[in-house]
Amino acid sequence: MSINAPRGTVDILPEATAKWQFVEATIRELANRYHYKEVRTPIFEHTELFQRGVGDSTDIVQKEMYTFEDRGGRSITLRPEGTAATVRAYVQNKLYGDPIQPSKLYYFGPMFRYERPQQGRMRQFHQFGIEVLGSNDPAIDAEVIGLALSCYEALGLKSLKLVLNSLGDTESRKNYREALVEHFTPCKDGLCNDCQSRLEQNPLRILDCKTDRDHPAMKSAPSILDYLNEESRVYFEKVKKSLDVMGISYVVDPNLVRGLDYYNHTAFEIMSEAEGFGAITTLAGGGRYNGLAQDIGGPETPGIGFAMGLERLLQALEAENIELPIDNALDVFVVAMGERAELEAVRIVNDLRQSGIQADKDYQGRKVKGQFKAADRVHSKYVLVLGDDELDKQTINVKAMAEGTQQEIAMSELVPYLQQQLGGK
Ligand code: ATP
Ligand code: MG
Repeated sequence: MSINAPRGTVDILPEATAKWQFVEATIRELANRYHYKEVRTPIFEHTELFQRGVGDSTDIVQKEMYTFEDRGGRSITLRPEGTAATVRAYVQNKLYGDPIQPSKLYYFGPMFRYERPQQGRMRQFHQFGIEVLGSNDPAIDAEVIGLALSCYEALGLKSLKLVLNSLGDTESRKNYREALVEHFTPCKDGLCNDCQSRLEQNPLRILDCKTDRDHPAMKSAPSILDYLNEESRVYFEKVKKSLDVMGISYVVDPNLVRGLDYYNHTAFEIMSEAEGFGAITTLAGGGRYNGLAQDIGGPETPGIGFAMGLERLLQALEAENIELPIDNALDVFVVAMGERAELEAVRIVNDLRQSGIQADKDYQGRKVKGQFKAADRVHSKYVLVLGDDELDKQTINVKAMAEGTQQEIAMSELVPYLQQQLGGK
């Protein structure tokens, strides 16, 4: 019986990895331009980190975590998201003591959530995310949003929508929470089971519910924006002004609350509006989380970040028919005719590679015609042909496939010749 990959996971094969690498390289370059540094945290953490850091009342902690006991009897969880681990690393390694502040960090990597697999929703998926720790400046909120958007724009995406909200500070949130409980309690029985328990645990999340989206009480619900205190309102205004000066447009949606418990002030999502993208349109989400570092045992530290799903990013590229400029063609393929040439081809391929030139040859014992076919299949830009005649003269035949021309080059000149040809493009 053959064994398949677990449900909700996929193999990313060479044709796709070329795209992944291009996307990752583009994003890394941007992260560097915005002056962010990479952190790599473990794939698994103590379960408690996510219970405390993501929040007990969230979908992630309640039903999506891959949690198991290890051989030492500890409760371990495969990371479902990157923020809690990044903040843990910041606290544990005392990055707050680094004179370079704020700490501007980014990460890439697989995340694990036990969800019902469907288009755009996997059990193992990948995120790029950033976290800024140690700044309370509304301008950094705008920078974070700007970096997320520029990742998509750099890859050519056009149909994007930025949705923005403020959840206010602790006081504003508390007042709003009370207003929501008052609003939804009379119609409690008409809400879905999840929302009935959210009403007690985390009423803000009711606004995020997919089941009760069309319930009449949703539309008449009070708006967070009416409950922001002066400080929160001023903060939100400053974030918007910073976005304005960068020429970034946004839509304010008071119902945008985001799933995680730890957000306050700025919350945002970036959606794809491309036709045919699919039902789940959120590409990235993020926000400010001023209480998180303290919740996991560190000093009080303001934080803001986002996470973007890379599978959904690739899906958006497809929906917008964007071809990434990926060069799949091989530079040089060496065709050998006869036994002597075969050994010499081993040396040449090796020499070319040592000189920085991408090169390959046949390893299937193909006849000459088959070798040419193989070169063609990998779209080789140059095909070198070597037989007894060339060996005697110490030359080699260089075919430039795009031009359809060929030239006999002295063996001693081969490397500089190809370097010049390939570099000159
Ligand atoms: P959703 O409402 O789609 O479940 P979420 O609020 O759970 O999203 P976040 O935790 O904010 O998502 O994760 C940020 C991004 O990571 C999402 O916008 C999405 O692009 C991606 N993402 C989240 N969960 C998955 C998943 N199961 N499969 C693929 N991508 C995912
Ligand atoms: Mg989710």
